[in-house]
Amino acid sequence: MKKHRMETIAIQGGYNPGNGEPRQLPIYQSTTFKYDTSAEMAKLFDLESDGYMYSRLANPTCDFVAKKIAAMEGGTSAMLTSSGQAANFFAVFNIAGNGDHVVASSSIYGGTFNLFAVTMARMGVEFTFVAPDCSEEELEAAFQPNTKAVFGETIANPALTVFDIETFAKKAHEHGVPLIVDNTFATPVNCRPFEWGADIVTHSTTKYMEGHAATIGGVIVDSGKFDWMAHADKFPGLTTPDDSYHGVVYAERFGKEGAFITKCVAQLMRDFGSTPAPQNAYLLNLGLESLPVRMERHCSNAQKMAEFLEAHDKVAWVNYPGLPSNKYYEKAQKYLPNGSCGVISFGVKGGRAAAEEFMAHLTLGNIETHVADSHTCCLHPASSTHRQMTDEQLEAAGVPADLVRLSIGLENIDDLIEDVTNALAQI
Ligand SMILES: *Cc1c(COP(=O)(O)O)cnc(C)c1O
Repeated sequence: MKKHRMETIAIQGGYNPGNGEPRQLPIYQSTTFKYDTSAEMAKLFDLESDGYMYSRLANPTCDFVAKKIAAMEGGTSAMLTSSGQAANFFAVFNIAGNGDHVVASSSIYGGTFNLFAVTMARMGVEFTFVAPDCSEEELEAAFQPNTKAVFGETIANPALTVFDIETFAKKAHEHGVPLIVDNTFATPVNCRPFEWGADIVTHSTTKYMEGHAATIGGVIVDSGKFDWMAHADKFPGLTTPDDSYHGVVYAERFGKEGAFITKCVAQLMRDFGSTPAPQNAYLLNLGLESLPVRMERHCSNAQKMAEFLEAHDKVAWVNYPGLPSNKYYEKAQKYLPNGSCGVISFGVKGGRAAAEEFMAHLTLGNIETHVADSHTCCLHPASSTHRQMTDEQLEAAGVPADLVRLSIGLENIDDLIEDVTNALAQI
């Protein structure tokens, strides 16, 4: 089939109706699927034929959407999960278990950090965190003989650091392990990590992909490029028989293109059941149709807002990768030439109290624990998501007490700037 461009895949990818079939993706609202003989069903249980049996494992609506996202990222296979948290957990746990080790960027989403540093640590997976802009020597030193993966975020939520995908991918491959990249904030519209050497991509589809603050969801995409068999000793789960599926060897039966996702569905979705609802997959698909158009507007609105804030005398600092003054501007130009994301963080002069005051006077920017949807919203981490931390701990985490996170939506930018102008005037 002809390779189409992003805007076309976003609309026409995944579900492709036949003659007389519904134009829009049908919602297969069914837990289970019927078969004429037990022998046919047995083949599904042995992973010998494609098909559906139970929606905890797989559902056609969800699979059509996963297929579209795989095409948008330029990968070979994908699976939806019920949340971004589940996607990151599955992506790592699929290849790293008790006694294994993972190198991760320290600049990642707080929920992911907790998942790794607390919950997965309890499960016996050890993590070494390195700065996203660490030296090659520091990165090299983080690897251990039992390292199974490297993890980072294209644009970190909320620090907005830009991950050096190419450098981390090269180092991961030197050590015979894959690079997993959480591409939530950039979306495949602004960055396709596989083109820079990443092997597995994850998303919280809750953010721009679904885009309207309507559903929680996640996705895992495989580039199909990592050669598990070439590093068979490191990845026995993929390269030796799985007794729970009659001795299937995933990397042999499903090849580089399909082994990772097939194993992840067959084992982790089966056992943990972080299953997306078909109804949510349907809404995600609607969001994906307009993703390229929306990302363009999110980025142009955010760029104007960032420039406005940077010039304002009540603003202490602005962090947005699209500003030439930004530490990550060069990397953003390399990895995100068409724009980064709609999220800006900035500090209001006067610290914690001024930040709270400013936010209370916004009328369009609502206070929410969310980012990256059509509605403009803001959050003061020091008094909400990070409120258990002291000012010193906040500073060290890159989330100082005066930080306001502003997620720019799709409203008219002049209205948004007027709203911010007014709120700043009230401090
Ligand atoms: C929100 C987010 C997650 C977690 O996703 P949920 O859908 O909320 O479970 C993971 N990574 C990033 C970068 C996020 O922004």
